[in-house]
Amino acid sequence: MFTKILIANRGEIACRVAATARRMGIKTVAVYSEADAMAKHVAVCDEAVLIGPPAAKESYLRGDKIIEVALATGAQAIHPGYGFLSENEGFAKACATAGLVFIGPPASAIRAMGSKSAAKSLMETAEVPLVPGYHGDNQDADFLQIQADRIAYPVLLKASAGGGGKGMRIVERSVDFKAALASCKREAINSFGDDKVLVEKYLTRPRHIEIQVFADTHGDCVYLFERDCSVQRRHQKVLEEAPAPGMSLERRAAMGEAAVAAAKAVGYVGAGTVEFIANQDGSFYFMEMNTRLQVEHPVTEMITGLDLVEWQLRVAAGQRLPLQQSQLSINGHAIEARIYAENPEKGFLPSIGTVRHMHTPQAVTFRVGGDAAAHAPAAVRIDSGVRQGDAISPFYDPMIAKLIVWGRNRDQALARMAQALSEYQIVGLASNIAFLQRLIASAPFAGADLDTGLIERHHDVLFPASGKAALPVLALAAASLLCSERQQRAGASDPWADASGWRLNSVLRRSLDFADEANAYPLTIAYLEDGWTIELGGMTAKICMAGQDGSHLTLKLGDQTVHGNVVRDGETFHVFTAGSHTALLCTDPLAHAGETEAEGGRLTAPMPGKIVAVLVSAGDAVEKGAPLLIMEAMKMEHTIAAPNHGVVEELLYAVGDQVAEGAQLLSFKLSGETKQT
Ligand code: ADP
Repeated sequence: MFTKILIANRGEIACRVAATARRMGIKTVAVYSEADAMAKHVAVCDEAVLIGPPAAKESYLRGDKIIEVALATGAQAIHPGYGFLSENEGFAKACATAGLVFIGPPASAIRAMGSKSAAKSLMETAEVPLVPGYHGDNQDADFLQIQADRIAYPVLLKASAGGGGKGMRIVERSVDFKAALASCKREAINSFGDDKVLVEKYLTRPRHIEIQVFADTHGDCVYLFERDCSVQRRHQKVLEEAPAPGMSLERRAAMGEAAVAAAKAVGYVGAGTVEFIANQDGSFYFMEMNTRLQVEHPVTEMITGLDLVEWQLRVAAGQRLPLQQSQLSINGHAIEARIYAENPEKGFLPSIGTVRHMHTPQAVTFRVGGDAAAHAPAAVRIDSGVRQGDAISPFYDPMIAKLIVWGRNRDQALARMAQALSEYQIVGLASNIAFLQRLIASAPFAGADLDTGLIERHHDVLFPASGKAALPVLALAAASLLCSERQQRAGASDPWADASGWRLNSVLRRSLDFADEANAYPLTIAYLEDGWTIELGGMTAKICMAGQDGSHLTLKLGDQTVHGNVVRDGETFHVFTAGSHTALLCTDPLAHAGETEAEGGRLTAPMPGKIVAVLVSAGDAVEKGAPLLIMEAMKMEHTIAAPNHGVVEELLYAVGDQVAEGAQLLSFKLSGETKQT
């Protein structure tokens, strides 16, 4: 076994690999970019070496530098994690040339599966079922359109070198084909440096079911069952679970064997995932093979009681697979939720910033049954590379953490997930936690009525109109503010040591204006000897403090006891109570009198990025919603659209320009006769 490995990655996966290495007594070397000098993965490894500036291509993608560091630090092997260099054939080869073990498959297997098109041709030969489509070399636009017309719409265009849900376009009609092809090719060349695409039939209501495979250098290959990753947004997984609900033993065996056949066809070694797209009738087709550890591998670990990183290290060190197919079994049910810094209400736009406050549910590990599983499944597991105070930057993936729960059955796992999400608190950037809570509780997910369109189809349930903040939430926010004022006046940390004389005044009234995105809450507060009264819209209730532990408040509100955590970030009060999060902006009505919201004449960059296409010219009259320019940020294309009918006055940036967050991109004049909607 190795005594020292280098982890060529960052974030949660680097921390995850380091944890297993430490348990096995293997020393770890972290590499990091200038943006990550203070990152968690640097702190959890035994050594850490700076490899370059923040941009991935100057740091985490610098295979040559990483190999140099491995040699200089005496590491014998490199674990690439996922993403970055994990599926880079050249890097796997360069490791071997330098006398280092690449903890992954042979370079030839990466090459064989690296191109979706070539992999499909190989699978055709191995008789693994394929979705109808064209995956050949002819990239002529007219030819591809003929293929799409032949397959019949809707079709899906995919970047052959694609991954991570990028470089895909659904085309509904023949007339839209050419534009979609151009956009797909543009994203493909930008993201993957290769604009080759394939066309396939777009299945309606399919499920994404993938099989975890593992092979060793002694010719053995097993499957560690399936994961259902149907719940996706922008073709990217949000929730993953194992086993797949409704999977019969026969189908599991058929898919498992097809996956093993796929792995064997390319001489696979190590951990790999064969992704299938499955119709509701159970028929399944090969989509692609990911030649690395997947983000969602923990759900497989939870139901098998195995540590897949340990298996990777053993196999890479030349050992045999620890278990044979007949020794593998499924225990219980596991679900993973990806917690992202993103704004679901704004099309899941990534959010960047500093995590000012983070409270996570308690990780719980216990042994289930008396079996000989090497590692007891945890009831609640959190894999994260982000701590309170860390930043989510535009340079890397905006995932904050993976929350994984295990239960004896799906219902128990669901209940644990709901509970754990209700305890997760993040302040400082937008997160998808509230969205995940609604998703977990939604009838289709709870009822396991899964398919890849679940989120879009149940949009109304998953994105309800925001309701009004409840009185306990407002009372907590108000009490937090009033207590901190009192503490400041008293100059003491004990709220009961108040000597300011405020509560000695007979009654002092003031207004406090809170607002969330949809509603304003003008409160009137009256100071009493033992608390306050809070008045909103003719309703009055008395608040008394019953306890305070840091930001956690307990109040008597009338005859209710209310408690929650109130985290203040500038003028915003984040109230976490009863499993929900409400952000309330507190404004001093006098200071803000006379201000109005900016009108829609400005169009600004939602985040830092690069302009990749300008679709209009100064003077153009455009319709509401017309695409004006396209920027690329956080590895995604974002289309900036006209807010209403109007005229483009001036373009402030050109293709290739970098823009800062909030930068005005163009000036736009709303047309006079426009009806405001
Ligand atoms: P990537 O490598 O970018 O993850 P995949 O080929 O694995 O791309 O596909 C990602 C997702 O896109 C799938 O999980 C599925 O939801 C959807 N998808 C892919 N192919 C099809 C198809 N032919 N029909 C319908 N949906 C598809």
